[in-house]
Amino acid sequence: MAYTYDPTNIFARILRGEIPNRTVLQSEHTLAFHDIAPHAPVHVLVIPKGPYVNFDHFSLEASEEEIVDFHRTAGQVIALLDVQPGEGGEGYRVIANSGAHGMQEVPHYHIHILGGRVLGPLLM
Ligand code: 5GP
Repeated sequence: MAYTYDPTNIFARILRGEIPNRTVLQSEHTLAFHDIAPHAPVHVLVIPKGPYVNFDHFSLEASEEEIVDFHRTAGQVIALLDVQPGEGGEGYRVIANSGAHGMQEVPHYHIHILGGRVLGPLLM
């Protein structure tokens, strides 16, 4: 499948430094920052720096180096924010909305890391 990436999306603009963000952590291929409209006390977005539109695009076409870097950075964010279950935290949720049915708003691949309260059952 041919993926079309829109370089005008808001996360592309954040990556280019055109829009400010509250960075939690960054690495060579990955940026983590606080969501502008948090749904929980901890609500961090983790994005690859490369132009990937969603989970399947990233999973199928990113390099192994980018994929490892992304997951390692997400793990470091979770450790940094003290939400690791059994490590002083009480747990968290990871979400990757993809496409129209996933209700993805920003067409640059990202995961949400949510925590800091009981999140309730997963919705439909
Ligand atoms: P999606 O629905 O695409 O999975 O989630 C997009 C997320 O990006 C939303 O939770 C929204 O609050 C967040 N967001 C949208 N624009 C901005 C922005 O300019 N800065 C930050 N930090 N987050 C944003």
